Amino acid sequence: MNYEQTRRTVLEAIQEAVEMKLINGTSGNIAMRTPENPNIVCITPSGIPYTGMKPEDIAVVEMLDDGTNKWIEGNYKPSSEVPMHCAVMRARKDVNATVHTHSMYATICAMGENPQLVPITPPQCEFTPVGIVSFTMPGSNDVADKVRDTLGESGRVCLIKNHGMFSCGKNMKAAMHATVYTEEMAQTTVIAKTLGTYEPMPEEAVKAMQALIAADQAV
Ligand SMILES: [Zn+2]
Repeated sequence: MNYEQTRRTVLEAIQEAVEMKLINGTSGNIAMRTPENPNIVCITPSGIPYTGMKPEDIAVVEMLDDGTNKWIEGNYKPSSEVPMHCAVMRARKDVNATVHTHSMYATICAMGENPQLVPITPPQCEFTPVGIVSFTMPGSNDVADKVRDTLGESGRVCLIKNHGMFSCGKNMKAAMHATVYTEEMAQTTVIAKTLGTYEPMPEEAVKAMQALIAADQAV
């Protein structure tokens, strides 16, 4: 089997996401660029339960020069969200892993006229600002373009209205952290607003925390 290590990493990540209840059923999808070839991406398959899945079931896609993405290996066809994962990988050479979930609290926070998600605790500061993408049909090139543009040159996470969220990172650990902490940010926000105790971190504290994180000094 080709790209075995990358396929194993993708499989372990999606199963971890299911265990953490970030993903229900066959929703959500995870992708990772291979170290062997930056134009080859391993991605979870479409519509197949993740429990009991094997590395060879993870699809392999090649990002071609003409802008299309070609399924080249794997027992099942790749996720319908290939355009979204590949659009971000193509635009961001610093991104090697991408995670898309319909996790509950992030989805709740993506609703309303002016959704805004800001850090409540220090570890969440790494992932702000959290962008917001208006609703567009899943699997379309349109949603792929909007997610790519909203993340821009350095964004780590964006919410997608009436759909879920999309996270990225330099490796799978970083992309999964972005997903976990954004869902935590959303959950604490929703509960605190429900209780009437919502009080996000002060902006200056968020900036100071981000400087520590950038200098790798965060505790
Ligand atoms: Zn989705």
